[in-house]
Amino acid sequence: MSDAPVRAERTLNAERSTLNAPPAASPVLDLTGVCRTYRMGDADVHALRDVSLAVRGGEYVAVVGPSGCGKSTLLNLLGAVDRATRGVVRINGADVGAMRDREATAFRLRNVGFVFQRFYLMPTLSARENVELPMAEAGMRKAARRARAVELLSYVGLAARADHRPAQLSGGEQQRVAIARALANAPALLLADEPTGELDARTGAEIIALFERLNRDGTTIVVVTHDEKLAQAARRVVRMADGGIVGDGASAEVHA
Ligand code: ADP
Ligand code: MG
Repeated sequence: MSDAPVRAERTLNAERSTLNAPPAASPVLDLTGVCRTYRMGDADVHALRDVSLAVRGGEYVAVVGPSGCGKSTLLNLLGAVDRATRGVVRINGADVGAMRDREATAFRLRNVGFVFQRFYLMPTLSARENVELPMAEAGMRKAARRARAVELLSYVGLAARADHRPAQLSGGEQQRVAIARALANAPALLLADEPTGELDARTGAEIIALFERLNRDGTTIVVVTHDEKLAQAARRVVRMADGGIVGDGASAEVHA
C-alpha cells in the first residue's frame, strides 16, 4: 500500500470489513445448482432452474433477459433477501441459506446495497435522513452517520439537496439518493434491479456514469436491466431465459 494522497471517494471503501479484498480464489458471489420454486396454489412456478454463477470481487455484471425469466428472483438470492429452494448461495464464502433470518438480515445490512427501479425512499425524510437510515439500523452514532450521509450525497453530486424531501427531487436525483443510501454501510456488493427503468435517457446516463465510477472505486456490481446502454457499460453480461442462464460473456461479445 502506498501513502499517496487519498481521493475523497476512497473513504467510501475505507470501512469495508468482511467483503473487502476476498482472496482471488474465492468469488464474492457463488451460486451452485440453485433452484427457486414458488408454490402458487397447487402449481409450482420454477423461477430459477439449476443456476450456477460465480462473480469475483471488482466485477461489473449486467443480467438481461425477457420479463419473467427470473432476473429479480436471482437478484434477491444474490442479496440474501430470499432463499433458494435447492442449491447453495455463498456471499463472500458465507452460506447465506444456512443462516437464520435475523443473521441473514444483519449480514445483508453490512454486506449488500440494493437499488430499485422505484427508488423506495421514505417520503417524510430528507435526502440526508434517508441515507442515514441503514447506518442507524447498523448502530452508527448520530454525528458519524450524519457526516457520512453528507459525504455520500456529495459523492453522488447532491450535497446541495441534502435537506430536500423525495417529492422535492427529480427522478434522477431520487435515484442518486437511493444509491447513496445503498452505499451507507460501505457494502462491497451493489445490486440493482432496473435502476434506470423509471428515468429518461439523459438522467439514466447519469446513473450509468455513477455506477461506472463506483465500480472503478472497487464496488462489485450486479445490475438487472432492459437498458442496452446500461448493459453495455457493464463488463460482463449474463443472459437469462426461462429460469436459466443461456449466455455469459464480455459485454462487447454479447452485443456484437
Ligand atoms: P423477471 O425479474 O425476470 O421479470 P421474476 O424473477 O420476477 O422475473 O419472476 C420469475 C418468475 O417467477 C415469473 O414467472 C414470475 O411470475 C414468478 N414469480 C416471481 N415472484 C413470485 C412470487 N412471489 N410468487 C409466485 N411467483 C413468482
Ligand atoms: Mg424483475
